[in-house]
Amino acid sequence: MGVIVQKFGGTSVANAEKIRRAAARAIEAFKKGSQVIVVASARGKQTDELIADAMELNPNPPRREMDMLLSTGEQQTVSLMAMALDAMGHKAISFTGSQIKMLTDGAHTRARIISIDANIIRRKLDTGHIVIVAGFQGMDEEEDITTLGRGGSDTSAVALAAALKADVCEIYTDVDGIYTSDPRKYPKAVKMARISYDEMLELASLGAGVMHGRAVEFGKKYDVPIHVRSSMNDEPGTLITHEVPQMEGILVSGATIQKDLAKLSLLGVDNRPGNAAKIFSHLARAKVIVNDIIQTEISTEKANISFTVATGDLSDAKKAIDEISGEVHCQGIFVRGDIAEVSVVGVGMRSHYGVADKMFRALAEAEVNIDSITTSEIRISCIVDLTDAEKALVAVCDAFELDKSAEARTQPK
Ligand code: ADP
Ligand code: ASP
Ligand code: MG
Repeated sequence: MGVIVQKFGGTSVANAEKIRRAAARAIEAFKKGSQVIVVASARGKQTDELIADAMELNPNPPRREMDMLLSTGEQQTVSLMAMALDAMGHKAISFTGSQIKMLTDGAHTRARIISIDANIIRRKLDTGHIVIVAGFQGMDEEEDITTLGRGGSDTSAVALAAALKADVCEIYTDVDGIYTSDPRKYPKAVKMARISYDEMLELASLGAGVMHGRAVEFGKKYDVPIHVRSSMNDEPGTLITHEVPQMEGILVSGATIQKDLAKLSLLGVDNRPGNAAKIFSHLARAKVIVNDIIQTEISTEKANISFTVATGDLSDAKKAIDEISGEVHCQGIFVRGDIAEVSVVGVGMRSHYGVADKMFRALAEAEVNIDSITTSEIRISCIVDLTDAEKALVAVCDAFELDKSAEARTQPK
């Protein structure tokens, strides 16, 4: 008998009616012959509300206590879902992350999954239960509750799908699939039928909040097809899968804008072996996650080093830089919090030219100044002024015809 994992996000379980609708979907899949695992998020905006409660008492709450608090949101949903299923005449049982031994590292509020004990769930599936698991949470070696970072229920779901060798992991959400850009920011965006894991990984790390990046990593590593779809209808959504040859023919699959970013620059650092290592190992010790790094030699003696971090990490990053700046003879530190990063992503970039040119021209025509540029094999990102963020996204989306289906776009050379 095949296993299917269905994950329901916050808006899809926001009230009793929606929980009932999600429960009905699980029963339908069961009746069609699958063993069903449901992964649920906290209801509605509950995680935001819990964070606000914490901040009222302590603007810098201990991360361990934050995890104790935040995990309660998901715990409520799963028990309510089990009650709904019971009322609908179906055997169901709910579990917290700790109960299914979802072991993570100890990095509170951004923990990474290490292992899952699939046997606990398997036993319940084999006795005809629909198993409901609280998303977003696990426990570390000390048996302390941990959480996986905002949006982390996706990762719980795909990790469970991998551990139980599920046929598919369905992500039910408030949009009906993955769009060429966030439809809230670019309403002309269109839904994609398929996207590769690599493209989705880039989009997720560049601010497309529709999927948690780690979930996509798990999907790719363990061959779990991920189907992102609407909890409000039965239309097929978007399949995240391994790359197929046709994908190469699409120049740009999607575009993003990321706002919660800051850029730190160390000016006039001594240009000698080991200095970059000193700076970034100090940042790693401070547990700062560094995004893009740009180093430029400005003379034989000196270099400038810039990098971006999430706004939430800015104060830790600034502190770490202040501590290390003397050791690398840095002549000045420059911090910008008023930036945004606009990016385009597509596996087609590997085999076609002219993408950078098109992007820079679109920004120039929209009179958006580019602060800095970073690239990977399948993406180009430009830092722009925060005030230009919306304009930049629209200009780039229009230039790459992201308001049309891939087939309807001008074919790349
Ligand atoms: P859930 O609570 O179900 O996990 P999220 O809010 O995390 O839902 O993700 C869904 C939201 O992601 C959508 O409402 C949409 O605004 C946003 N989003 C960002 N980028 C995209 C994209 N490329 N395609 C679709 N939705 C996107
Ligand atoms: N409830 C958590 C959040 O709001 C996890 C999730 O929804 O995926 O971030
Ligand atoms: Mg989400």
